[in-house]
Amino acid sequence: MNNFKICYVASEVSPFVKTGGLGDVASALPVALKELEQDIRLMMPKYRPINERKFVLRDVIRLREVKVPLGGLTRIASGKTAFLPQSKVHVYFLFIPELFDRKGIYADPETGQDYPDNAERFAYFSKAVLETLKLLYWQPDIIHCNEWQTALIPFYLKTYYQDDEFFQNTRTVLTVHNLSYQGRFPLEVAPRLDIPEELVAPGGPFEFQGELNLLKGGILYADVINTVSERYAEEIVSDPEYGFGFENILASRKKDLYGILNGVDYSVWNPETDKYIPVKYDSKTLEKKSGNKKVLCDQNGFAFSEDIPLLGMVTRLIEQKGIELVLEAMDELMKRNLYMIILGTGEEKYQKALEKFARKYKKKLAVHFKFDERLAHLIEAGADMFLMPSKFEPCGLNQMYSLRYGTVPIVRETGGLADTVKDFDPETGKGNGFTFKEFSAAAMLEAIDRALAIYPDRKTWTKIQKAGMRADFSWQVSAKKYLKLYEKALKKK
Ligand code: ADP
Repeated sequence: MNNFKICYVASEVSPFVKTGGLGDVASALPVALKELEQDIRLMMPKYRPINERKFVLRDVIRLREVKVPLGGLTRIASGKTAFLPQSKVHVYFLFIPELFDRKGIYADPETGQDYPDNAERFAYFSKAVLETLKLLYWQPDIIHCNEWQTALIPFYLKTYYQDDEFFQNTRTVLTVHNLSYQGRFPLEVAPRLDIPEELVAPGGPFEFQGELNLLKGGILYADVINTVSERYAEEIVSDPEYGFGFENILASRKKDLYGILNGVDYSVWNPETDKYIPVKYDSKTLEKKSGNKKVLCDQNGFAFSEDIPLLGMVTRLIEQKGIELVLEAMDELMKRNLYMIILGTGEEKYQKALEKFARKYKKKLAVHFKFDERLAHLIEAGADMFLMPSKFEPCGLNQMYSLRYGTVPIVRETGGLADTVKDFDPETGKGNGFTFKEFSAAAMLEAIDRALAIYPDRKTWTKIQKAGMRADFSWQVSAKKYLKLYEKALKKK
């Protein structure tokens, strides 16, 4: 197997900061690559909420003063380092006080609004990554970028650094975790990022629908691109509903576009060892799972019963996640013999609507609007079923967590959900969950009803649970596919 030097760059890395699936991926994939004996180092911004003491961040003498010239203004970054907990992966934290010494990561927590200078914040970070590598004298074979926040790196390398000996053998990979986040900004911002005028002229690589679009540029300049499931990689080139207008741009790079399913970090998401759940269990002691359900019911004021299935959701409350279907179906759903718990953060309108329902159906429905790791784990462990009716889903992690926890997923057949959850077929006895195709409340209800009808048949239900628990979505499998991707990138001129 090849040994690569890989610089993995992300705007969030769990457990330092996490707002969604990217944070999980950016910590688990590098660990899996390290286990495959790759020389991998991580780089991320040092945000104020990262606790320097808790994570033992250390100064790096060489990185006391990293000059980062951009758009005619040189800012000074400084770098600290720490290990990713429980691993030997080095993480570099790049700090530019005027850009990152703030309460929020992407948005001001008080207003919920994105910081207006996000383009500059992440452009300086991207440039700082390249300058840091030079100061460290560490020449990576691959710079692995993620999302629009780091999508400028391939562009800077191919333009401003194209004659720089240091980077002659460095190639770039860009992973698109979610095509709906594109890094769109007013065109006037371009010069501040050293993006010349002609590149933001209509049809230029950084122009899209009259705006500056950082993801578009990243897709066009990266040596190789991938998304986080095979199905999503197909959907975004073939279906305008999924491509967000990028179908042609992606099609122009179809030869270099791959789909690699995200993995699960089973050291964190495993009911045998989960530190957040009161009763641990595995597929041989599945009967213990209900101990978690009992705690979850007690905490939410539900009368515990083995016979009443508990349906869980842990989700961002945004359009992508199909919240509107849940709202539309709620009155109907509440006529069923079930309990429902929803944990999520996101749009106010969804919170308000859900809150109203929670008041109306106090004894059956509980909603929690916060980011709560412990409760997320408890829901995975304590619920009988897990609902993900996403409009689109590049990969989705929670359905894979649910499978491992014997919590039967009910999902819309799209993206990574389609790649991981197979509809139960009573005739063959095969399947690990319940799926529906059409994006409608009726189709979703139909799938939930099928699950509810089978639930009392404990033998069949256990069979479905065990089929899910057997599935292996460990990062080892996906990490090997990334190595193949790196090989492909290195063959590029
Ligand atoms: P996305 O990245 O689109 O939000 P994923 O399913 O890929 O969706 O990943 C979501 C991750 O964030 C999971 O680890 C999930 O448990 C976690 N998560 C989402 N909302 C919350 C919340 N309110 N509290 C705790 N964890 C959450």
